[in-house]
Amino acid sequence: MEREPVPAPADAAPAAGDWMIRFDQVVKRFGDLTVLDHLDFHVRAKERVTLIGPSGSGKTTILRLLMTLERVTGGLIEVDGRPFSHMPGRGGLVPANEKHLRVARRKIGMVFQQFNLFPNMDVMRNITEAPVRSLGRSREEAETRGAELLEMVGLADKAHEHPARLSGGQQQRVAIARALAMEPEILLLDEVTSALDPELVAGVQCLLRDIAQESQLTILCVTHEMHFARDISDRVLMFDRGRIVEDGPPEQIFGEPREQRTRDFLQAVI
Ligand code: ADP
Repeated sequence: MEREPVPAPADAAPAAGDWMIRFDQVVKRFGDLTVLDHLDFHVRAKERVTLIGPSGSGKTTILRLLMTLERVTGGLIEVDGRPFSHMPGRGGLVPANEKHLRVARRKIGMVFQQFNLFPNMDVMRNITEAPVRSLGRSREEAETRGAELLEMVGLADKAHEHPARLSGGQQQRVAIARALAMEPEILLLDEVTSALDPELVAGVQCLLRDIAQESQLTILCVTHEMHFARDISDRVLMFDRGRIVEDGPPEQIFGEPREQRTRDFLQAVI
């Protein structure tokens, strides 16, 4: 099914309830280093947003906060209208505990630079283990869905191979199928082709572009591949030193960037 276009201009703040991810004055420090400095941004439901910017500007930290691999130092993250970094407590919101974070994370699927497949399980088991354990699916249900997903990522004939016998591109396709098997509403993509041999990059990018176009997923992507950012996004956020320097549709950011910082960055990387 073709996805519906995301309405409303990118730079208008959406009304409450119209967004899937909201960062509200988020601060993240590592010791003395302030990586995110009172960061505000929204991602609408079904929107596909790519974060670009120089190395060290805080892009991966944003994904790691959403993966609950890091905790905020200050501010609030909400996912689908619920506090994600915090939970209701005595006298208001308090920092979330592990259980809250685990539940909150259910809506989120992730694909990393390193595929992180289970080496001792075959491909089908890699895809079905979490739906069986965490979503309570029967093994049969999970395998039926697993077979559909393998078909979609072009690996229908690899269900019983072990990851070590697959190419990097095939392993990343398994990782994509594994993320989708958890029926996420949000998909986080963290430099998903950085570890691949150059000849395998285009195939994985093409697959992700098709998934982005045909699914109803909200996608937040970090990449240094600008043509992929252009292909996959409704909106691109240019980061520098933990702040958004420019926020706009790919045609603006890559065609007519308004900020000098964006122009300098693009000139250096393209
Ligand atoms: P980007 O993804 O834009 O390259 P990151 O979010 O990875 O940037 O990193 C932003 C800054 O935070 C960098 O200076 C990085 O060294 C620092 N940083 C990230 N994680 C940690 C950590 N666990 N401990 C200390 N510093 C960190």
